[in-house]
Amino acid sequence: MSEKIENLNKFNRYMLQSAVRKILPDSRTAKCLRKIHLERKQPLYDAIVKVHKSINHDSAFFSGLEVCGSIWTCPICAAKISEKRREELTRVIEEHKANGGELIMITRTVPHYYQSLKEFLNLFLKAEKTLKESNDYRKLKSKVGLIGTIRVLEITHGENGWHVHSHELWFLERDFPTLYGELTGLSFDEIERRYSVVNKRGLFNIWLESAKKHGFANPSPYAFDVRNGDFAKNYITKWGKESESFKWTADYELTKSHLKNSKSKKGKTPFDLLKDFFLYADKKAALLFKEFAECFKGKHQLQWSKGLKKKFLVREISDEELAKEIEDKADIIGSFSVSTWEDIILKNDIRHKILELALNAKWNDINNFVQNIRKRQCLTQ
Ligand SMILES: [Zn+2]
Repeated sequence: MSEKIENLNKFNRYMLQSAVRKILPDSRTAKCLRKIHLERKQPLYDAIVKVHKSINHDSAFFSGLEVCGSIWTCPICAAKISEKRREELTRVIEEHKANGGELIMITRTVPHYYQSLKEFLNLFLKAEKTLKESNDYRKLKSKVGLIGTIRVLEITHGENGWHVHSHELWFLERDFPTLYGELTGLSFDEIERRYSVVNKRGLFNIWLESAKKHGFANPSPYAFDVRNGDFAKNYITKWGKESESFKWTADYELTKSHLKNSKSKKGKTPFDLLKDFFLYADKKAALLFKEFAECFKGKHQLQWSKGLKKKFLVREISDEELAKEIEDKADIIGSFSVSTWEDIILKNDIRHKILELALNAKWNDINNFVQNIRKRQCLTQ
Protein backbone atom coordinates (compact mmCIF):
# COMPACT_ATOMS: atom_id res chain seq x y z
CA MET A 1 0.00 0.00 0.00
CA SER A 2 1.23 3.44 -0.75
CA GLU A 3 2.05 5.85 2.02
CA LYS A 4 -0.82 8.04 0.93
CA ILE A 5 -3.40 5.37 1.55
CA GLU A 6 -2.01 4.69 4.99
CA ASN A 7 -2.31 8.35 5.83
CA LEU A 8 -5.79 8.42 4.52
CA ASN A 9 -6.61 5.59 6.92
CA LYS A 10 -5.26 7.60 9.75
CA PHE A 11 -7.52 10.52 8.97
CA ASN A 12 -10.54 8.33 8.31
CA ARG A 13 -10.55 7.84 12.06
CA TYR A 14 -12.02 11.32 12.22
CA MET A 15 -15.00 10.14 10.19
CA LEU A 16 -15.37 7.07 12.39
CA GLN A 17 -15.28 9.35 15.40
CA SER A 18 -18.07 11.42 13.89
CA ALA A 19 -20.09 8.19 13.77
CA VAL A 20 -19.53 7.74 17.53
CA ARG A 21 -21.12 11.15 17.98
CA LYS A 22 -24.33 9.84 16.49
CA ILE A 23 -24.35 6.79 18.76
CA LEU A 24 -23.15 8.50 21.96
CA PRO A 25 -24.15 12.17 21.61
CA ASP A 26 -23.61 12.94 25.30
CA SER A 27 -20.21 11.27 25.64
CA ARG A 28 -16.88 13.03 25.87
CA THR A 29 -15.90 11.35 22.61
CA ALA A 30 -18.70 13.33 20.91
CA LYS A 31 -16.80 16.51 21.79
CA CYS A 32 -13.27 15.15 21.29
CA LEU A 33 -11.16 17.22 18.89
CA ARG A 34 -14.24 19.35 18.17
CA LYS A 35 -14.88 21.51 21.20
CA ILE A 36 -12.52 24.47 21.70
CA HIS A 37 -10.28 24.06 24.72
CA LEU A 38 -10.08 27.24 26.72
CA GLU A 39 -7.35 28.01 29.22
CA ARG A 40 -8.53 29.50 32.52
CA LYS A 41 -10.29 32.81 32.02
CA GLN A 42 -9.46 32.76 28.30
CA PRO A 43 -12.27 34.36 26.28
CA LEU A 44 -13.63 32.33 23.37
CA TYR A 45 -12.84 35.06 20.79
CA ASP A 46 -9.18 34.78 21.72
CA ALA A 47 -8.95 31.04 21.00
CA ILE A 48 -7.61 29.43 17.83
CA VAL A 49 -7.26 25.89 16.50
CA LYS A 50 -3.74 25.15 15.34
CA VAL A 51 -2.78 22.71 12.61
CA HIS A 52 0.52 20.89 13.13
CA LYS A 53 2.57 18.81 10.76
CA SER A 54 5.04 16.41 12.31
CA ILE A 55 8.66 16.60 11.16
CA ASN A 56 9.46 12.89 11.40
CA HIS A 57 6.25 10.98 11.09
CA ASP A 58 4.56 12.43 8.09
CA SER A 59 1.42 13.06 10.07
CA ALA A 60 -0.74 16.05 10.94
CA PHE A 61 -2.93 16.94 13.90
CA PHE A 62 -4.87 19.73 15.61
CA SER A 63 -4.29 21.46 18.93
CA GLY A 64 -6.39 23.86 21.01
CA LEU A 65 -9.26 21.38 21.28
CA GLU A 66 -10.74 19.17 23.99
CA VAL A 67 -9.50 15.56 23.97
CA CYS A 68 -11.55 12.67 25.40
CA GLY A 69 -8.80 10.09 26.05
CA SER A 70 -11.15 7.13 25.67
CA ILE A 71 -9.35 3.93 24.72
CA TRP A 72 -12.72 2.18 24.19
CA THR A 73 -14.85 4.60 22.21
CA CYS A 74 -12.59 7.10 20.45
CA PRO A 75 -10.84 5.85 17.30
CA ILE A 76 -8.41 8.79 17.37
CA CYS A 77 -7.49 8.68 21.07
CA ALA A 78 -7.40 4.86 21.09
CA ALA A 79 -4.80 4.76 18.31
CA LYS A 80 -2.65 7.36 20.03
CA ILE A 81 -2.88 5.83 23.50
CA SER A 82 -2.24 2.24 22.44
CA GLU A 83 0.76 3.25 20.35
CA LYS A 84 2.31 4.92 23.40
CA ARG A 85 1.43 2.03 25.71
CA ARG A 86 3.00 -0.36 23.21
CA GLU A 87 6.26 1.60 23.19
CA GLU A 88 6.25 1.50 27.00
CA LEU A 89 5.59 -2.25 27.09
CA THR A 90 8.26 -3.01 24.52
CA ARG A 91 10.81 -1.11 26.61
CA VAL A 92 9.79 -3.00 29.78
CA ILE A 93 9.97 -6.40 28.04
CA GLU A 94 13.42 -5.65 26.64
CA GLU A 95 14.71 -4.55 30.01
CA HIS A 96 13.25 -7.64 31.66
CA LYS A 97 14.89 -9.93 29.09
CA ALA A 98 18.20 -8.11 29.39
CA ASN A 99 18.07 -8.86 33.14
CA GLY A 100 17.78 -12.57 32.36
CA GLY A 101 14.04 -12.74 32.97
CA GLU A 102 11.51 -14.80 31.02
CA LEU A 103 8.07 -13.97 29.74
CA ILE A 104 5.03 -16.06 28.97
CA MET A 105 1.57 -15.13 27.79
CA ILE A 106 -1.55 -16.70 29.25
CA THR A 107 -4.95 -16.43 27.56
CA ARG A 108 -8.12 -17.07 29.55
CA THR A 109 -11.49 -17.50 27.93
CA VAL A 110 -14.90 -18.91 28.88
CA PRO A 111 -17.77 -20.24 26.76
CA HIS A 112 -20.27 -17.57 25.81
CA TYR A 113 -23.87 -18.10 26.77
CA TYR A 114 -24.74 -14.66 28.03
CA GLN A 115 -26.81 -12.11 26.15
CA SER A 116 -25.83 -9.03 28.10
CA LEU A 117 -22.24 -7.86 27.96
CA LYS A 118 -22.51 -6.40 31.45
CA GLU A 119 -23.50 -9.74 32.94
CA PHE A 120 -20.83 -11.58 30.93
CA LEU A 121 -18.08 -9.15 31.92
CA ASN A 122 -19.03 -9.13 35.61
CA LEU A 123 -18.92 -12.91 35.79
CA PHE A 124 -15.67 -13.07 33.85
CA LEU A 125 -14.00 -10.55 36.17
CA LYS A 126 -15.34 -12.40 39.21
CA ALA A 127 -13.89 -15.65 37.86
CA GLU A 128 -10.51 -13.95 37.44
CA LYS A 129 -10.73 -12.63 41.01
CA THR A 130 -11.57 -16.08 42.38
CA LEU A 131 -8.60 -17.52 40.48
CA LYS A 132 -6.17 -14.95 41.83
CA GLU A 133 -7.40 -15.26 45.40
CA SER A 134 -7.18 -19.05 45.50
CA ASN A 135 -4.48 -20.64 47.63
CA ASP A 136 -3.34 -22.91 44.81
CA TYR A 137 -2.76 -19.91 42.58
CA ARG A 138 -0.81 -18.06 45.25
CA LYS A 139 1.40 -21.06 45.95
CA LEU A 140 2.06 -21.52 42.27
CA LYS A 141 3.02 -17.90 41.78
CA SER A 142 5.74 -18.04 44.37
CA LYS A 143 7.01 -21.40 43.08
CA VAL A 144 7.51 -20.19 39.52
CA GLY A 145 9.12 -16.92 40.59
CA LEU A 146 6.49 -14.60 39.24
CA ILE A 147 7.59 -10.96 39.38
CA GLY A 148 4.34 -9.50 38.10
CA THR A 149 1.67 -9.54 35.41
CA ILE A 150 0.07 -7.23 32.86
CA ARG A 151 -3.41 -8.10 31.72
CA VAL A 152 -5.12 -6.95 28.53
CA LEU A 153 -8.90 -7.29 28.10
CA GLU A 154 -10.27 -8.04 24.64
CA ILE A 155 -13.90 -8.00 23.56
CA THR A 156 -15.56 -9.28 20.42
CA HIS A 157 -19.10 -9.85 19.19
CA GLY A 158 -19.84 -12.85 17.02
CA GLU A 159 -22.55 -15.34 16.12
CA ASN A 160 -22.97 -16.35 19.77
CA GLY A 161 -23.06 -12.83 21.12
CA TRP A 162 -20.45 -11.08 23.22
CA HIS A 163 -17.16 -12.64 24.08
CA VAL A 164 -14.61 -11.44 26.61
CA HIS A 165 -11.14 -12.87 27.01
CA SER A 166 -7.95 -11.78 28.63
CA HIS A 167 -4.29 -12.05 27.76
CA GLU A 168 -1.86 -11.87 30.61
CA LEU A 169 1.87 -11.39 30.38
CA TRP A 170 3.76 -13.13 33.15
CA PHE A 171 7.13 -11.72 34.04
CA LEU A 172 9.16 -14.62 35.45
CA GLU A 173 12.53 -14.40 37.17
CA ARG A 174 14.10 -16.85 34.73
CA ASP A 175 13.39 -19.40 32.02
CA PHE A 176 12.37 -22.85 33.26
CA PRO A 177 9.92 -24.48 30.83
CA THR A 178 10.04 -27.98 32.33
CA LEU A 179 9.45 -26.88 35.89
CA TYR A 180 6.74 -24.57 34.74
CA GLY A 181 5.04 -27.37 32.83
CA GLU A 182 5.00 -29.55 35.94
CA LEU A 183 3.49 -26.81 38.02
CA THR A 184 0.79 -25.81 35.61
CA GLY A 185 -0.35 -29.23 34.48
CA LEU A 186 0.87 -28.46 31.02
CA SER A 187 3.60 -30.20 29.07
CA PHE A 188 6.09 -28.25 27.03
CA ASP A 189 6.58 -29.10 23.36
CA GLU A 190 10.21 -28.22 22.54
CA ILE A 191 9.65 -28.18 18.77
CA GLU A 192 6.49 -26.10 18.77
CA ARG A 193 7.76 -24.03 21.70
CA ARG A 194 4.28 -24.26 23.11
CA TYR A 195 2.56 -25.75 26.15
CA SER A 196 -0.32 -28.20 25.93
CA VAL A 197 -2.68 -29.53 28.57
CA VAL A 198 -1.92 -32.89 30.20
CA ASN A 199 -4.73 -32.82 32.74
CA LYS A 200 -2.64 -32.51 35.84
CA ARG A 201 -3.62 -30.06 38.50
CA GLY A 202 -2.26 -26.65 37.66
CA LEU A 203 -3.22 -23.21 36.48
CA PHE A 204 -5.48 -24.66 33.83
CA ASN A 205 -7.59 -26.54 36.35
CA ILE A 206 -7.65 -23.68 38.82
CA TRP A 207 -9.05 -21.48 36.05
CA LEU A 208 -11.71 -24.04 35.11
CA GLU A 209 -12.82 -24.31 38.72
CA SER A 210 -12.91 -20.54 39.15
CA ALA A 211 -14.93 -20.13 35.94
CA LYS A 212 -17.39 -22.87 36.96
CA LYS A 213 -17.96 -21.17 40.32
CA HIS A 214 -19.37 -18.18 38.43
CA GLY A 215 -21.69 -20.15 36.19
CA PHE A 216 -19.49 -20.87 33.19
CA ALA A 217 -20.34 -24.51 32.60
CA ASN A 218 -17.80 -26.89 31.13
CA PRO A 219 -15.16 -24.54 29.77
CA SER A 220 -13.32 -26.25 26.93
CA PRO A 221 -9.60 -27.10 27.01
CA TYR A 222 -9.13 -24.05 24.81
CA ALA A 223 -10.28 -21.89 27.71
CA PHE A 224 -6.69 -21.63 28.78
CA ASP A 225 -3.60 -21.20 26.68
CA VAL A 226 0.03 -20.52 27.50
CA ARG A 227 2.53 -19.28 24.95
CA ASN A 228 6.23 -18.69 25.27
CA GLY A 229 8.10 -15.39 25.40
CA ASP A 230 8.56 -15.08 21.64
CA PHE A 231 4.83 -15.24 21.13
CA ALA A 232 4.20 -12.74 23.91
CA LYS A 233 6.71 -10.33 22.42
CA ASN A 234 5.17 -10.73 18.99
CA TYR A 235 1.72 -10.01 20.39
CA ILE A 236 2.93 -6.83 22.05
CA THR A 237 4.84 -5.70 18.97
CA LYS A 238 1.65 -5.86 16.93
CA TRP A 239 -0.57 -4.60 19.71
CA GLY A 240 -1.85 -1.11 19.29
CA LYS A 241 -0.56 -0.83 15.74
CA GLU A 242 -3.01 -0.19 12.94
CA SER A 243 -5.55 -2.84 13.81
CA GLU A 244 -7.80 -4.51 11.27
CA SER A 245 -10.53 -2.22 12.53
CA PHE A 246 -8.85 0.77 10.97
CA LYS A 247 -7.89 -0.85 7.69
CA TRP A 248 -10.33 0.11 5.04
CA THR A 249 -8.26 0.82 2.03
CA ALA A 250 -9.44 0.73 -1.56
CA ASP A 251 -9.64 -3.06 -1.56
CA TYR A 252 -11.81 -2.95 1.55
CA GLU A 253 -14.25 -0.70 -0.26
CA LEU A 254 -14.30 -3.09 -3.19
CA THR A 255 -15.10 -6.08 -1.07
CA LYS A 256 -17.34 -4.46 1.48
CA SER A 257 -20.52 -6.12 0.23
CA HIS A 258 -18.83 -9.45 0.77
CA LEU A 259 -17.57 -8.45 4.20
CA LYS A 260 -20.95 -7.21 5.23
CA ASN A 261 -22.53 -10.57 4.63
CA SER A 262 -19.72 -12.74 5.91
CA LYS A 263 -19.75 -13.91 9.48
CA SER A 264 -16.29 -13.81 10.90
CA LYS A 265 -15.55 -16.71 13.19
CA LYS A 266 -13.32 -14.53 15.29
CA GLY A 267 -16.10 -12.04 15.92
CA LYS A 268 -16.06 -8.32 15.49
CA THR A 269 -14.22 -5.87 17.68
CA PRO A 270 -16.17 -2.84 18.95
CA PHE A 271 -14.43 -0.67 16.34
CA ASP A 272 -15.53 -3.15 13.64
CA LEU A 273 -19.11 -2.64 14.84
CA LEU A 274 -18.62 1.10 14.66
CA LYS A 275 -17.33 0.76 11.13
CA ASP A 276 -20.39 -1.30 10.17
CA PHE A 277 -22.60 1.48 11.46
CA PHE A 278 -20.60 4.13 9.61
CA LEU A 279 -20.39 2.32 6.28
CA TYR A 280 -23.73 0.50 6.13
CA ALA A 281 -25.89 2.39 8.66
CA ASP A 282 -26.15 -0.92 10.54
CA LYS A 283 -28.41 0.00 13.46
CA LYS A 284 -27.87 -3.25 15.32
CA ALA A 285 -24.11 -2.63 15.25
CA ALA A 286 -24.72 0.87 16.67
CA LEU A 287 -26.75 -0.55 19.56
CA LEU A 288 -24.05 -3.10 20.32
CA PHE A 289 -21.39 -0.41 20.28
CA LYS A 290 -23.50 1.62 22.71
CA GLU A 291 -23.91 -1.35 25.03
CA PHE A 292 -20.16 -1.91 24.92
CA ALA A 293 -19.37 1.77 25.60
CA GLU A 294 -21.67 1.90 28.64
CA CYS A 295 -20.20 -1.29 30.03
CA PHE A 296 -16.53 -0.38 29.64
CA LYS A 297 -16.66 3.27 30.65
CA GLY A 298 -13.94 3.92 33.22
CA LYS A 299 -12.39 0.45 32.92
CA HIS A 300 -8.68 -0.01 32.30
CA GLN A 301 -7.60 -1.87 29.21
CA LEU A 302 -4.19 -2.69 30.67
CA GLN A 303 -3.91 -3.84 34.25
CA TRP A 304 -0.44 -3.92 35.78
CA SER A 305 -0.03 -5.97 38.92
CA LYS A 306 0.99 -4.09 42.05
CA GLY A 307 4.59 -2.90 42.07
CA LEU A 308 5.44 -3.86 38.49
CA LYS A 309 5.37 -0.32 37.12
CA LYS A 310 7.60 0.85 39.94
CA LYS A 311 10.09 -1.94 39.30
CA PHE A 312 10.50 -0.92 35.66
CA LEU A 313 10.23 2.82 36.37
CA VAL A 314 7.11 3.20 34.25
CA ARG A 315 5.50 6.60 34.67
CA GLU A 316 1.99 6.73 36.11
CA ILE A 317 0.01 8.49 33.44
CA SER A 318 -3.68 8.23 32.62
CA ASP A 319 -5.06 7.48 29.16
CA GLU A 320 -6.44 10.98 29.04
CA GLU A 321 -3.08 12.60 29.81
CA LEU A 322 -1.42 10.40 27.16
CA ALA A 323 -3.99 11.41 24.56
CA LYS A 324 -3.40 15.07 25.37
CA GLU A 325 0.36 14.93 24.88
CA ILE A 326 1.42 16.81 21.81
CA GLU A 327 4.27 15.61 19.67
CA ASP A 328 7.00 18.17 20.09
CA LYS A 329 8.75 17.51 16.79
CA ALA A 330 6.05 19.19 14.74
CA ASP A 331 5.65 22.53 12.98
CA ILE A 332 2.58 24.71 13.29
CA ILE A 333 1.56 25.31 9.70
CA GLY A 334 -1.46 27.52 10.34
CA SER A 335 -4.51 28.15 12.48
CA PHE A 336 -8.28 28.67 12.29
CA SER A 337 -10.48 31.11 14.14
CA VAL A 338 -13.25 29.70 16.30
CA SER A 339 -15.90 30.73 13.79
CA THR A 340 -14.09 29.09 10.84
CA TRP A 341 -13.60 25.98 12.92
CA GLU A 342 -17.21 25.74 14.02
CA ASP A 343 -19.09 27.13 11.03
CA ILE A 344 -17.04 25.63 8.22
CA ILE A 345 -14.89 22.74 9.36
CA LEU A 346 -17.18 21.08 11.90
CA LYS A 347 -20.37 21.88 10.06
CA ASN A 348 -19.06 20.18 6.91
CA ASP A 349 -17.28 17.41 8.82
CA ILE A 350 -13.99 18.00 6.99
CA ARG A 351 -11.44 17.64 9.81
CA HIS A 352 -9.93 14.62 8.02
CA LYS A 353 -9.72 16.56 4.76
CA ILE A 354 -7.81 19.44 6.41
CA LEU A 355 -5.24 17.04 7.89
CA GLU A 356 -4.86 15.21 4.62
CA LEU A 357 -4.17 18.53 2.87
CA ALA A 358 -1.81 19.59 5.66
CA LEU A 359 0.55 16.79 4.69
CA ASN A 360 1.22 18.04 1.17
CA ALA A 361 -0.46 21.34 0.45
CA LYS A 362 0.66 24.84 1.42
CA TRP A 363 -1.32 26.75 4.06
CA ASN A 364 -2.58 29.09 1.35
CA ASP A 365 -4.15 26.17 -0.50
CA ILE A 366 -5.81 24.94 2.70
CA ASN A 367 -7.13 28.42 3.33
CA ASN A 368 -8.49 28.67 -0.22
CA PHE A 369 -10.16 25.31 0.17
CA VAL A 370 -11.88 26.48 3.36
CA GLN A 371 -12.85 29.87 1.91
CA ASN A 372 -14.40 28.21 -1.16
CA ILE A 373 -16.60 26.15 1.11
CA ARG A 374 -17.55 29.30 3.02
CA LYS A 375 -18.53 31.04 -0.23
CA ARG A 376 -20.64 28.08 -1.35
CA GLN A 377 -22.24 27.96 2.06
CA CYS A 378 -23.11 31.68 1.93
CA LEU A 379 -24.66 31.27 -1.51
CA THR A 380 -26.93 28.49 -0.40
CA GLN A 381 -28.06 30.28 2.74
ZN1 LIG B 1 -10.92 11.15 21.75
